[in-house]
Amino acid sequence: MKKLIMILFIPIILFSACKQEEKRSTNPFFSEFNTPYNVPPFDKIDTSHFIPAFEKGIIDQQAEIDAIVNCKEAPTFENTVIALDKSGSLLTRVSRVFGTINGANTNPALQNINRKIAPKTTKHRDNISLNEKLFQRIKKVYENRETSNLDADQKRVVEKYYEDFVRDGANLNETDKAKLRELNQKLSTLSIKFGENLLAETNTNFKLIIDKQEDLAGLPQGIIDASSDAARADSLVGKWVFTLQKPLMIPFLQYAKNRDLREKLYRGYFMRCNNNNKFDNKQILLDIANLRAERAKLLGFKTYAEYSISRNMAQTPEKVYEFLTGIFNPAQEVAKKDRDEMQKIIKKEGGKFNLAPWDWWYYAEKLRKEKYNLDESELKPYFVLDNVRNGMFYVANKLYGLTFTRKTNIPVYHPEVETYEVKEANGNYAGILYIDFYPRSGKRPGAWCGAIREQVYEKGKRIPPIVSMVCNFTRPTGSDPSLLTWDEVTTMFHEFGHGLHNIFTDGKYDRTAGSLPRDMVELPSQIMENWAAQPEVIRYYGKHYQTGEVIPNELLEKLQKSMVFNQGFETVEYVAASLLDLDWHSFTEPKKIDVLAFEKESMDKIKLMKEILPRYRSTYFSHIIGGYAAGYYVYLWAAVLDSDAFQAFVDSGDIFNKEIAAKFRKHILTEGGTDEGMIQYKKFRGQDPSIDPLLKKRGLK
Ligand SMILES: [Zn+2]
Repeated sequence: MKKLIMILFIPIILFSACKQEEKRSTNPFFSEFNTPYNVPPFDKIDTSHFIPAFEKGIIDQQAEIDAIVNCKEAPTFENTVIALDKSGSLLTRVSRVFGTINGANTNPALQNINRKIAPKTTKHRDNISLNEKLFQRIKKVYENRETSNLDADQKRVVEKYYEDFVRDGANLNETDKAKLRELNQKLSTLSIKFGENLLAETNTNFKLIIDKQEDLAGLPQGIIDASSDAARADSLVGKWVFTLQKPLMIPFLQYAKNRDLREKLYRGYFMRCNNNNKFDNKQILLDIANLRAERAKLLGFKTYAEYSISRNMAQTPEKVYEFLTGIFNPAQEVAKKDRDEMQKIIKKEGGKFNLAPWDWWYYAEKLRKEKYNLDESELKPYFVLDNVRNGMFYVANKLYGLTFTRKTNIPVYHPEVETYEVKEANGNYAGILYIDFYPRSGKRPGAWCGAIREQVYEKGKRIPPIVSMVCNFTRPTGSDPSLLTWDEVTTMFHEFGHGLHNIFTDGKYDRTAGSLPRDMVELPSQIMENWAAQPEVIRYYGKHYQTGEVIPNELLEKLQKSMVFNQGFETVEYVAASLLDLDWHSFTEPKKIDVLAFEKESMDKIKLMKEILPRYRSTYFSHIIGGYAAGYYVYLWAAVLDSDAFQAFVDSGDIFNKEIAAKFRKHILTEGGTDEGMIQYKKFRGQDPSIDPLLKKRGLK
């Protein structure tokens, strides 16, 4: 009965009342899937199947909970904790399939289901977590845990469930419980609205339409072709369209000579959900922050940040503030130096303006060229999507012996989705991997990875998982294959790392299997980015799309050297957003404030330089609406861990050291949920993590 967590984002999973009982007999969710590897029969699942499946899922789980509560025997690990852990299988099954499709390929009908189902699942979850009799049974098992012959794994499962119940309000009186339910309902509805507004503002409401060829000056041909394809898709033949999706927006900011158009596009981006129209998220965000503050207080915490961080490795918001500001200051020093050098370029070119936020990418490219003689567009021809994907499979093979075989007989939710059978070195089946690479109007921005079905033990036997990776990468054009940016290359390895975590997780109990603290969850993903950047790995996947020539040494060296480039900017915009997130979750009581003024004050506090905006502004900060509330900092926290962990490979003289890989796999990827994060980390590393490898990697030390 694990809480459904998709990496990067929690798709809010939902349910509703329904009149489709007659469809039950043919509803694929109500019988064995009967597909290869038991994957969901995406080709047979119809929109109309979801609501009945959610409804039955809720009823079934409620019956399972009732059976636990009404059990005449004294509470035991078996009859209470295991029974709870195993409950809700239909609901989990439909939630995961729905979450997968709704995130990657949504439409108004699915959004509508989402809105209808959310209040029902929220209510159902509350019916479990606030069930007094159930809690009393769990509490009994918890109190007897030292004397009931439980092994270490079982004891931890009991402790985690007990803690969950307390954190979900089980110790509250009836009045406060009712209050909590109300807050949960409101939060669930507001979160959906926030996401829908953002989807519309990113994919639909803003487009930069160009009809004069001269306005394309500076852009690489591949980007011009892609924007022409985008225009054609909008029936704007002979024009060029730039959207706020990153594969089109970032190159425009990097290369377009027309400064006014750069500003227009970037403004479109950073004003999302802040246009005082029906897609505005200001009030929604404030309401969410206030409701969370109330919720935290009700549960005995000073702030939501305290509530959220208390179960992470960092433990307290103070520690996170200290960690972030400690890195912010040196990073901003570096960013300011870069800014000054860019300003010199502007002056040299005769520009009479100060560098503005929409200029950063453009002049950063020029500075990159000046400093490293490297133009990002020189790299792209070597980063063919298919080769990069094979490169990440190669790394997984060298480290862990895994093999990946493309499948064509597995049902998918969209024809662009690729599927792979994963096998261990000894040939044992290890899972199925779905990969969905390209942007679509029904796809959320960003990249993420989740399980369509997690590993599970049935009758003592482990069933491997079905994993899904979703990205928004550069599309192929009419003439060229998909050619990736460096950022896309590392993002692919990153999400794949989450995938490996899913594939290797092995645990009998749903509650603890694969469950890492929030600020450790990015360790499995981010460590993969280190391999993506190793010369021998780049040589493996970096082959010219026309000639097949391996990336020349000279270019590779330039890329390596330039890896510290712009790290000041990247770190500053990230840390600024992380601090903004913490500030939104540090209310000790609900506030009536102006959202934009609050944001400004938050950024003024750290003296954020005016040429850089926080990576996410309040009205489109979807991470903190989903699963990363008071938790956007976790990527940097985990970056300390991933840099330190990778250093173990480097220090051994072999980046594919099988012995170290086996330790990493065992203590972090396979058994990471069996004990506290730091304990598991030290089992792998044999010592505390050091921050030095990270600072060095980013050129901040
Ligand atoms: Zn991630």
